[in-house]
This record gives sequence, C-alpha cells and structure tokens, in this order.
Amino acid sequence: MGHDRPGVDLHIHSTASDGTLPPVDIVREARVLGLAAIALTDHDTLEGVRTASAAGAGGHPAILTGVEISTEPPEGFPGGGSLHVLGYGVDLDHVDLNRELETLRGAREDRNPRILERLGSLGIDLTPEDVAFHAPDGAAGRPHIAQAMIRKGYVATFEEAFDRYIGKGKPAYVDKYRVSGLDAIALIRSAGGIAVLAHPGLTVGNDGDRLADLLAALLPFGLGGLEVYYPEHDPEQTALFEAAARQHGLLMTGGTDFHGQIKPGIRMGSGRGDFHVPFRVYEDLVEALDTHRSNT
Ligand code: AMP
Ligand code: ZN
Ligand code: FE
Ligand code: FE
Repeated sequence: MGHDRPGVDLHIHSTASDGTLPPVDIVREARVLGLAAIALTDHDTLEGVRTASAAGAGGHPAILTGVEISTEPPEGFPGGGSLHVLGYGVDLDHVDLNRELETLRGAREDRNPRILERLGSLGIDLTPEDVAFHAPDGAAGRPHIAQAMIRKGYVATFEEAFDRYIGKGKPAYVDKYRVSGLDAIALIRSAGGIAVLAHPGLTVGNDGDRLADLLAALLPFGLGGLEVYYPEHDPEQTALFEAAARQHGLLMTGGTDFHGQIKPGIRMGSGRGDFHVPFRVYEDLVEALDTHRSNT
C-alpha cells in the first residue's frame, strides 16, 4: 500500500519515560524508516526532546518538541483514571511548565515504594534497584515495575502485571497526584504550544455523547487538537474524531505511541503496518504553531 507523501509520527516514547529506545536511537530509526517528521512525547518530561533535538538538529527527520502529560480528567469525567494531554511545540525552557513536569515526575517516583510494599505483601519481592534497572534515563513508573516483575519471573507479560497487580483497582495499585487537565492545557499554551487530547478512543470509546461532554469541558480552556489517527482507533472511531475536529475547528494529529519493546509490534510511523498518519497533519500543526507564536 503506497502513500505518495512521506510518513510522520507525532506520538513516540523514549527511555526518558517508559520507552525502551534512547532518544538518539529514535531519531536514527526514524531516519532509516524515511520519516519526514517526528515528535517525541514522553510522559511528563522534556528531557528526551532536549537530547533528540541536539542530536538531530537541522537534519531529517524534522523534530517537533512534545510531551504527554498525565492529567486529572475534568469534574464528572472519572473514566479510566488519567486523561493524557499532548503538548506540541512547547518552549523547552518555559519555567512553569518545567516546574509542573518536575512535580509530576516526583509524584510518580514517590509512590513507587508504596507499590513495592504492596507487592511485597503479595509475595512479590522487588527492590528499588530492580525497578531502576529498567529506567536508566528517567523517572521510574508502573511500566518499569512491570518490566522488573517480568524479569524476576513473577509474571509472564506486561498485561499480566497490570491486570493482576498494578493496574487501577488491582491490589498493588497506588494513586498519584495529577495536574488537572484544564491546567495542563493552559500551561502548554502559555509555553507557546498547542494542547491535543491524546488517543480519545481510549477515553470515550466510540461514544459521541461522551466525546461531546469531554470537549465541552476542555474547549473553553484552549484545547487545540484531537489525536485522530492512532493505531487502536477503529475506522468508526477515526471518523467520529475527524468529524468532531472539523466541527470544532480543532487540529487533527496522529502517531503510533511507539514504546519500543514494551509495546511489541508497534513500528514507528506505521504502527502494525496498516496504519499511516497523513502528512498534512504535520503541515497543519506547524502552521498552527507559527500562527500561535506570532500571536503571543
Ligand atoms: P504511571 O504513570 O507510572 O502510572 O504509568 C502509566 C503508564 O502505564 C501508562 O502510560 C501506560 O503506558 C501503562 N499502563 C497503564 N495501565 C495499563 C494497563 N492496564 N495495561 C498496560 N499498560 C498500562
Ligand atoms: Zn507510556
Ligand atoms: Fe497516553
Ligand atoms: Fe503515549
């Protein structure tokens, strides 16, 4: 299946959060795959973007700054716990944004001892070092705990770790501080970026009414886009999100949520092979960022 325009991938995780490829390797891999543009969107950190931008400056692929913030959904939207907000084109040195991201990383690390304690009482003995082994470059979180559980033979798969122990509502789950989704959007905007609702299908499924409710809460705070193109969205969902983006004048973005080894089968730029992010999505985002910056 040929596409006449180069590929882009605007949702990628590196070892700066819970991906397994270092930022520099991601840039190299994207180049090998012939991608025209990528955005690194690590959870609650810009550190990987700093490294990748330095490594890939001025070359191919073009690199957009990005971040994926784990937020508290608006009132009346309990859903599945966390609402992920992507920030594109943010100023890497924005003080308030960096301070909030630091707080979020601290909250993630602070809860690890409590998760390990609960796991211990369930007969699963892991040390902080066992976990840190899987997070050499960034704040450790549940994905790294899951990897440690696999490595030590307590579970066979990532899914088993979450489904039996550390997923929300399971015996070793511990909640953590999250910034409100509305504050995250405002912060991304004040850092010169555009805020995009990540993988809406994971939050609202294909329920148009739920999507409308969520957008009604987020739009007044300056939500700028919807991640329409995502490997786990089925055609019905993609159509729903395209229509909503058109209706509200939102940008459409897309990416694979590449994490390396912990999401096996997902390839940068093409997901499971039959996925593709339209190039115009990247062009539109760059144009919107130019406009946004010249207005601030
Ligand atoms: P943390 O921010 O440390 O709580 O980790 C959250 C991350 O864990 C998410 O971004 C996902 O990558 C992963 N995750 C959360 N829930 C699950 C689940 N049920 N199955 C697999 N991965 C999950
Ligand atoms: Zn992740
Ligand atoms: Fe996410
Ligand atoms: Fe992600």
